[in-house]
Amino acid sequence: MSLLKSYRSIAGSEIIDEIETLAERLAGKSVVHVNSTKVGGGVAEILARMVPLLNELGINTRWEIVKGAQDFYNATKKFHNALHGAAQDITEADFKAYAETVEANASQIDLGSDFVFIHDPQPAALVKKREQFKNHWIWRCHIDLSHAAPLVWNYFKPLVSSYDACVISDPHFSQELPIPQTLIAPSIDPLSEKNRDLTKAEIDKVFSHLKIPRDKPLITQVSRFDRLKDPLGVIEAFEALGPRPGARLLLVGGSADDDPEGAIVYQEVMAKAKGNENIIILSLPPTSNLEINAIQRGSTIVVQKSLREGFGLTVSEALWKSKPVIAGAVGGIPQQVIHKHTGILVHSIEGTTYWMRQLLRNPDMAQKLGENGKEHVRNNFLLTRHLRDYLLLFLMTENPYSDFIRL
Ligand code: UDP
Repeated sequence: MSLLKSYRSIAGSEIIDEIETLAERLAGKSVVHVNSTKVGGGVAEILARMVPLLNELGINTRWEIVKGAQDFYNATKKFHNALHGAAQDITEADFKAYAETVEANASQIDLGSDFVFIHDPQPAALVKKREQFKNHWIWRCHIDLSHAAPLVWNYFKPLVSSYDACVISDPHFSQELPIPQTLIAPSIDPLSEKNRDLTKAEIDKVFSHLKIPRDKPLITQVSRFDRLKDPLGVIEAFEALGPRPGARLLLVGGSADDDPEGAIVYQEVMAKAKGNENIIILSLPPTSNLEINAIQRGSTIVVQKSLREGFGLTVSEALWKSKPVIAGAVGGIPQQVIHKHTGILVHSIEGTTYWMRQLLRNPDMAQKLGENGKEHVRNNFLLTRHLRDYLLLFLMTENPYSDFIRL
């Protein structure tokens, strides 16, 4: 069976038929996706699953990454934080390291595909080379730009303005730009190792292998060790449950190749959790998909207490596993968590503690939230919907002056 057809029983026949119809119009076209890491973080997570599907549909798709030295990753991490609205100390040297690195990458990467799909700020300046090619350029922004620091946004805005279109994950991220902006939410793959159904034996095996105790309910956050994911806030919220919380807290994290801050934040988290036997901190390699799947499934409550978020794939991952989710009301999270229907939205450490306690005491409510959450993800945040939207985007970009796509 083809890869695409295996989604029919989960996502429904209609969307599969739509994808096949749209793909026929694009057969033989080529696409190159460019980002800055093949492992770690949501962008890599999606591309790893999206690229094979596009190829299977007859759209010749490659995935390239921009590479640089430490000064490039330091600069782009600061840009990332600043575009999310966090205060950063950014210097001329950062812009210089950025521009020079992207310029060097431009000669290494084949940008001649029909569609050049650039993800996030790291490779954004490649667009300076577009004049050499007669093709279409799309900037796919995974960041919440609604509080973007002017210094950094003013640098990127002219670059973004040179694209044919910009894709954002939430309507609030829209900016004043002279190009069309399209809303496309990210997605999870229900058949990936990260999200596929697991047997109880598979889950038990991961827990015993990782030596995670299961004597108490488990409250879990899965996130890169990043300040914007607020791991320290999660610990504070958990500690406020009191000396006998009746649960354990598990913070699972890893690093991404393009994130130089992970090791520092990990140390901060370890220091804060020290001495509390109910808190477990686990650092896993970024390829631990089965392990994350089992941990999410074996958890009682999943938390994603982000302070800023593009979309937050971990939320859909947990909802797909029918877990009650407590998540920060930021970025694309409210699309996934409809308060008291598909999960719980929080705005503070106190609110997080309150809802941890409520859900621990009220398993019926927790179960209902999880069940609703799964259906919400099925209807809105599966890879098939995302793929359909990208195919439509390609067709729209090819026909910019048309309101209709004739099939
Ligand atoms: N992830 C992982 N291991 C970790 C931490 C995160 O595999 O230690 C995965 C997580 O399951 C999700 C992705 O990385 O698929 C994170 O995506 P999200 O959109 O939540 O956040 P980002 O890291 O892109 O800001």
